[in-house]
Amino acid sequence: MPGTNWAGNVSYAARRRHRPSSLDEVRRLVAGSDRVRAIGTGHSFNRLGDTAGDLVSLAGLPATVALDPDRGTVSVPAAMRYGDLAARLHERGYALANLASLPHISVAGAVATGTHGSGETVGNLATAVAGLELVTADGDLLTVDRAADGDTFAGMVVSLGALGVVTRLTLDVVPAYDLRQYVRLGLPREALDAAFASAYSVSVFTDFRGPRLREVWLKQHADAAPPPADWLGTTAADGPRHPVPGLPAENCTAQLGAPGPWHERLPHFRLGFTPSSGDELQSEYHVPRGAGAAALAALEPVAHLIAPVLQVCELRAVAADGLWLSPNHGRDSLALHFTWVADPAAVLPVVAAVEEQLAPFVPRPHWGKVFGLAPAAVASAWPRYADFLDLVSRLDPAGKFRTDLLDRYFPRS
Ligand SMILES: Cc1cc2nc3c(=O)[nH]c(=O)nc-3n(C[C@H](O)[C@H](O)[C@H](O)COP(=O)(O)OP(=O)(O)OC[C@H]3O[C@@H](n4cnc5c(N)ncnc54)[C@H](O)[C@@H]3O)c2cc1C
Repeated sequence: MPGTNWAGNVSYAARRRHRPSSLDEVRRLVAGSDRVRAIGTGHSFNRLGDTAGDLVSLAGLPATVALDPDRGTVSVPAAMRYGDLAARLHERGYALANLASLPHISVAGAVATGTHGSGETVGNLATAVAGLELVTADGDLLTVDRAADGDTFAGMVVSLGALGVVTRLTLDVVPAYDLRQYVRLGLPREALDAAFASAYSVSVFTDFRGPRLREVWLKQHADAAPPPADWLGTTAADGPRHPVPGLPAENCTAQLGAPGPWHERLPHFRLGFTPSSGDELQSEYHVPRGAGAAALAALEPVAHLIAPVLQVCELRAVAADGLWLSPNHGRDSLALHFTWVADPAAVLPVVAAVEEQLAPFVPRPHWGKVFGLAPAAVASAWPRYADFLDLVSRLDPAGKFRTDLLDRYFPRS
């Protein structure tokens, strides 16, 4: 198990690390520990996944994938990476509705933080969850289901790891589909909404250095007409691109309109290659979609602070959902993502400036990335915040799954 997160900015403080190979072992471990935390692939950028106690990776549990074509679901082990799951689903003619920018992350870790891709009609990855199996504080195995457990279930999916150790998840599947990916250059800002409406999944990249948005990555169904030459006033990229200027396009999924399976087009980055730049910090804020253009404009006065510490900014659309702690709870969202340079001292003041500018739009931070919002701002951004606090105290009365970061944002009453 690694001693730091993927980015290297967090050294795990756990006094013991474990890699159990059976469910019983996980149950015994949780029951016998006073402080315990599950870890996925460690791709988060903050201390949410850390603990001073026992850190548990579930990567040693059996990798059984059980497809249920009648229900349209698949049951997967918590630690499985999306890339590995996607290949197995595709072989059998199935797919997931969406994926994040990278296939390297674990299903449970991504779901716990409300990880998302892009697509104005598509929810984040947690919205595909139809069932959960978790080991709760006393070592019991709890199974919850979307149909049977309704509202409480909606509170348990984006869990921040605070409710227990998730051992398996059941996800909705759809028939496999093919996509084509096109990269277009120089989008006028006023065309942002039209761009999001034009394809299944759309990512817009900008650098805060010019009036136009630098690149648009369109991921559209393979049988849809390709964008015309003058699409929204942009030009076609003359070759494959990497979102971070100057980095090798080889790390990225195929572009230039080549058709290919969903899991080889929806992520920007390929399994087996370094995603993003590999030397970075990340922050991200979700604002209401209708206020997206205004939120982007509100960052202009601090563009001179952002640009020098920015590798790239990505704008994505995410559909609203009902999951209590989802960044997209109750609102169609524009996600403003920042890939920063790997220098916390230079980046943190800029993160604070971004948060101040976005404050009027009630920004919801990505739970797994760098943010510094005041606890009161976080509490007031989620209408079901108090219900989640209540759920945590019911399922984990002794605070076994707590971390410093959870104590800051979800203090015990
Ligand atoms: C290069 C890069 C690109 C990224 N791109 C995107 C993107 O496109 N969209 C996006 O939204 N995010 C993105 N992220 C962020 C990433 O998706 C999240 O940080 C996600 O949580 C990482 O999953 P993980 O398996 O590494 O989780 P970890 O960082 O290992 O853990 C995250 C949280 O989940 C909890 N957890 C993990 N496993 C379990 C379990 N079995 N039971 C209970 N709790 C558990 C942990 O305790 C922790 O609190 C990116 C990150 C990187 C490094």
